[in-house]
Amino acid sequence: MTPSRNPLPPGACIGIVGGGQLGRMLALAAAELGFQTHVFCPEENAPATQVASFSTQADYQNKPALDRFSQSVDVVTYEFENIPVDTVAHIETQKPVLPSAKALEVAQDRWVEKCFMRELGLGVADFYDITSEADLRAALEATQGQGILKTRRFGYDGKGQWRLDANSDLAATMAELDGQSAILEVLVPFEREISLLVARNPNGETATFDAIENVHKNHILHTSTLPAQLSDAQASQAQAMATKIAEALDYVGVLAIECFVTPQGLLVNEIAPRVHNSGHLTQDACHCGQFEQHIRAIASWPLGDARAHSNAVMTNLLGDEVNDWQDWAAQEATYLHFYGKAEAKPGRKMAHVTRLTPRR
Ligand code: AMP
Repeated sequence: MTPSRNPLPPGACIGIVGGGQLGRMLALAAAELGFQTHVFCPEENAPATQVASFSTQADYQNKPALDRFSQSVDVVTYEFENIPVDTVAHIETQKPVLPSAKALEVAQDRWVEKCFMRELGLGVADFYDITSEADLRAALEATQGQGILKTRRFGYDGKGQWRLDANSDLAATMAELDGQSAILEVLVPFEREISLLVARNPNGETATFDAIENVHKNHILHTSTLPAQLSDAQASQAQAMATKIAEALDYVGVLAIECFVTPQGLLVNEIAPRVHNSGHLTQDACHCGQFEQHIRAIASWPLGDARAHSNAVMTNLLGDEVNDWQDWAAQEATYLHFYGKAEAKPGRKMAHVTRLTPRR
């Protein structure tokens, strides 16, 4: 179903597919605007279900459960991009799903995503299609022996990625790839990594946040800083790029775009058709943060003010790091956000903290 251009009134119910921390913070933002929420996910006691008005615990393929869910809500969104396309297609026969299937299709496949960016005239790292060891050998020769092999689908937080050089055992890497389609990307000697967040509503109104700078540790986001260190020219290129992608996808919701900053300009690494970990600091540092913007956009409300009132650094608390919460809680201008996960497994995102400083 196509989204309505009429604003959804408070009291309406927003369906959220996926029960993680992004769904949790979306549900909290929705509640602030007077909406009810219904979370659909297979896990028991998932972070989002703890704060939602209603929840359904069922498999994403469970059509009768999806039907009941669809009937109970006014509009549906999702909090992760690897949601099965069939699930979205099924819900879409009954209720609008935002962002649309087109955005998912682009974001779910690195090859499709990179071709899409090139067609828009945006820079991406050179990439090669890999279906055999011979392809991989040839591609590595073309990239001067260095590159990153990435599965086309279902990769996240460094999973499904292999950094390769002249000494890598290509046969063993292909065995690990186990028949999944993949691309080899040239290794980008970037100066910094940034993310761009843009919100767009069904009336085509957009709101862009200032670029955020990201530092990863062991392939997982460690800190995000607002604002990113960019020249004025880079900052305006970034804003124009974000709006161009959102418009080309006829996007509704918050879209995240991860980029490499290089001396030659910005290269798009990947997009996420959802709110994003690097955007968590906007909750506390901006007049209207990413979660509220997403809810406003899918509810056809006017977008909020994305400008930052403070500078900010967000730190993810992974696994046991969450045990330091008392130290963080004692710091000034520091905001803690816990996800309600029972078990602190190594590397698991348990909470984040955002520290504000006066805007420069
Ligand atoms: P991705 O899953 O594509 O977001 O990659 C995870 C992280 O690996 C990125 O945030 C970068 O730090 C690094 N990375 C990915 N692709 C490249 C590349 N082509 N060149 C250099 N570093 C990369």
